[in-house]
Amino acid sequence: MNKRIFLSSPHMSGSELGYIKEVFESNYIAPLGEFVNRFEDSIKSYTGAKNALALNSGTAAIHLALRVLGVGTGDDVLASTFTFIGSINAIIYQGANPIFIDSDLESWNLSPKLLNKYLLECEKKPKALIVTHLYGMSADIEKIADICRLHGVYLIEDAAESLGATYGGKHTGTFGDFGIYSFNGNKILTTSGGGMLVSPNEEWINKARFYSTQAKEPFIHYEHEEYGYNYRMSNVLAAIGVGQMEVIEERIAKKRQIFEWYKEFLGDIEEISFMPELPNSRGNRWLTAITFVKTDYHKVMQALEGINVESRPLWKPMHMQPLFLDAKRLVDGTSEVLFGKGLCLASSTTMGRDDVAMITDKIRKVIFKA
Ligand SMILES: *Cc1c(COP(=O)(O)O)cnc(C)c1O
Repeated sequence: MNKRIFLSSPHMSGSELGYIKEVFESNYIAPLGEFVNRFEDSIKSYTGAKNALALNSGTAAIHLALRVLGVGTGDDVLASTFTFIGSINAIIYQGANPIFIDSDLESWNLSPKLLNKYLLECEKKPKALIVTHLYGMSADIEKIADICRLHGVYLIEDAAESLGATYGGKHTGTFGDFGIYSFNGNKILTTSGGGMLVSPNEEWINKARFYSTQAKEPFIHYEHEEYGYNYRMSNVLAAIGVGQMEVIEERIAKKRQIFEWYKEFLGDIEEISFMPELPNSRGNRWLTAITFVKTDYHKVMQALEGINVESRPLWKPMHMQPLFLDAKRLVDGTSEVLFGKGLCLASSTTMGRDDVAMITDKIRKVIFKA
C-alpha cells in the first residue's frame, strides 16, 4: 500500500529547526521573543498589512477582532454560511447572533448581491461582517468592502485559508478593518497551531495585544480594569512560522500546479466543475475543490480511501448545522447545492504529478464505472 496522501500535509522549508535551536539558545521559550516579532514583521512585509499580532489560533484572532470592535451580547454579525465553524464560534463567545449569507456561483464565496439585499432590508443594522475566502480563493472582496463601508458595517476577513491570495494585486486579509490568518496543521503554512490578526488601525491592534495577554494595566503590580485572554503565540512556534514564510510563494506555486494537474486529467469530464477563480484575483488553491453533476461523491471518497488517499466533502454550510437551526439567514440554495455535490481533493504540496495521475485515474474509473 502506498503512503497515505493527505488533503494538505505540513511541509517544512528546512530552516525551522535551526530557528527553534536559536530560540532554545536564547531561552525565550515563552509567548514573546525575537521570533514572535520577526514572524509579525514577515507577515506585514509580505501582505502589506500595516499592523500584525501573532496569536495561538486563527479563532482567537477573530475573537479579538470582535471584542475590539465592541461586538457584544445581542448584536447581529453577518457571516459567510459556506465556511468552517472557526469563522463563527467567536460570534457565539461574544454572545452575538450570527446571520448567514449565501454564496454565489461566480466565486462560491459570499454573494455581494445577497449581502446588499440583507443590508437594504434589515430592521436592525449588523455590527460586522465576517467574510471567508474559502479554499484559498478570494471572495468578491472589493465589492463586499464597498457595501460594508456604505452601510457602516465593520468588515473582518477570514483569510485563514487564503494567505497569499490576492484581489487586484492586494492581499486578502488587508481589505477590511481586520483580517485573520491561520497556521493550523493543514493550512498552506503551519506552525502546528497559530494565527495572526492584522489591521490598518494601530490602536486596535494595540488593544487586541492588551486583551491577548490577560489585559494587564501598566502598573508594577498586576492591575486589571477589564478581562482578557491568554492568546499570544509561543516564540518556539513563531520560529517555525518564520521558516515557513520563506517558502510561501513556492508553496502557492505548487498548490496552483496541483490544481492545473487535476484540470489536465479531469478537465474533459463534462460533469466536473472546479472552484472558480474570480477575474483580477489570484487564489492560493489551498485545496482543489470540485463538484459532480451525477456521480455520488461518497463513491469517489470510498474509492480514494481504497488507495489510501484522503478527500473530504465541501464544508457543510453553517445554516444547515444543527447548532444554528434557529439562526437568521439569507440563502438561495447555492451553498446547499455545492455541499451536496462537491469534494476537496488531496492537495499536499509534497505531491507529484504521478500522485495526481493515480488519484484522477481512480476518479475516472468511478465516473465511467470502468
Ligand atoms: C482553519 C480555519 C479557521 C480557524 O483557524 P484556527 O487557527 O484553526 O483556529 C477559521 N476559519 C476558517 C475558514 C478556517 O479554515
